[in-house]
Amino acid sequence: MKILIVEDESKTADYLQRGLTEQGYVVELARNGPDGQHYALQYDYDLIILDVMLPGADGFSVLRAIRAVKQTPVIMLTARDRVDDRVKGLREGADDYLVKPFSFIELLARLQAITRRGRGQDPMQITVGDLQIDLLSRRAWRDSRRLDLTAKEFALLAALARRQGEIISKTVIAEQVWDVNFESNANVVEVAIKRLRAKIDNPFKHKLLHTIRGMGYVLEPRDEVDEVV
Ligand code: CA
Repeated sequence: MKILIVEDESKTADYLQRGLTEQGYVVELARNGPDGQHYALQYDYDLIILDVMLPGADGFSVLRAIRAVKQTPVIMLTARDRVDDRVKGLREGADDYLVKPFSFIELLARLQAITRRGRGQDPMQITVGDLQIDLLSRRAWRDSRRLDLTAKEFALLAALARRQGEIISKTVIAEQVWDVNFESNANVVEVAIKRLRAKIDNPFKHKLLHTIRGMGYVLEPRDEVDEVV
């Protein structure tokens, strides 16, 4: 899950970025209106958190530019004394708003509600063989054993599981699990895959995470004898 935060106030921006990263989201930050608009149009996010009062271009004009071409869910951040802003934001296509100051828990609840809504039929639980993944609680089990995954490992597992049975290249993995500023490095993906494999596959007889040489990785249950990787 990739989130763009467009917020010029460092305190709020850093607080959100830290909190969401800890929750396992990939977070990118734009500190003014034009940068936010550029990022929102250039890249695909699962959600955008957009402040109204921004230097360069305000949140409403950024929202209009986004809505002209994309339906990415947007949560607007508005000031307490600007009731009209909330109405205006919703009218112009924001999915929700939060009044500053807000609690992180509240933001997280709104964010989860919106992404769940946006995903429609997209399940919150994914099953791959005897591997179970709960995207909402961000937990995974194999053979009923809870897997102890870091936020990054979970993000990687979720990216593979959402497209189970499909070969996913290192570039696509890097794009989905790390942010755009990440120096796309195949080696980093390989190391991350190795760590994930040590937790989700090594202790178990049947392997689920397979390397397809020269192409990428696929997460799927297979009947045949496990390949040597
Ligand atoms: Ca602001």
